Amino acid sequence: MIERVEILGVKVDAVTMAQAVERVASLIAADKPSMVATANAEMLLRATHDDELKNILNAANLVVPDGAGTVWAAHHLGKFMPERVAGFDLVQELMKIAPAKSWKFFLFGAAPGIADKAKLKAESLYPGIKIVGTRNGYFTAADEPTIIEQIKSSRPDVLLAALGVPKQEKWLSAHMNELSVPVSIGVGGTFDVMAGVVKRAPLWMQRAKLEWLFRALLQPSRAGRLIALPKFVFKVHKQKISC
Ligand code: UDP
Repeated sequence: MIERVEILGVKVDAVTMAQAVERVASLIAADKPSMVATANAEMLLRATHDDELKNILNAANLVVPDGAGTVWAAHHLGKFMPERVAGFDLVQELMKIAPAKSWKFFLFGAAPGIADKAKLKAESLYPGIKIVGTRNGYFTAADEPTIIEQIKSSRPDVLLAALGVPKQEKWLSAHMNELSVPVSIGVGGTFDVMAGVVKRAPLWMQRAKLEWLFRALLQPSRAGRLIALPKFVFKVHKQKISC
């Protein structure tokens, strides 16, 4: 039985990468629409003042601890959280075994052309993988019926939505039943990294739990978002002393 640790009102699954992959595999086998979320500190902080996001996360079939902040928070609260399960890494692990399992993916999101580049990258890294469709993440309400039809008719097993937080979670939650895709995952900037537009932090920085700093340095437009980290630490500490 995998425990769920409540962090700022959101229940996060205490899973290892291997357990997360196993859970996704069983959700695909169950063949009912399900959602997987990748919770980092910024998302958990946002959920404290966005009830819609909080409810979506608490209704998700799997919430993985994406980010050093989420793992730190669980430990600070005295709970078990085995390791960080980054959304990007989860996608790579799923794609690695996808050819053997015949899983089909649809890549939805990011700027025009990026999902196509991510598809090419996946096809070169994971020979035999089936990416049955792509669609960029910039659209109006009038485009949505076409997007929904495109996803539905390509019948993927896994829908990866890279629209940013909380847009991807809200969009998936609103449409997952209609889409009837077994597993939908909000994956943030994953396609940008796969396409080579945005770099992942070097391993030593990931290990030193400094990936957030690398991202802020590389994309100064994100630097303002850094304020979320001390706020997150403060709120988690408040949760700890109030229980
Ligand atoms: N994006 C999108 N549609 C939008 C807004 C954003 O497709 O309306 C994409 C954006 O191009 C980027 C991803 O969503 O590829 C968000 O990446 P980010 O690293 O900001 O993810 P987050 O930190 O929000 O998970």
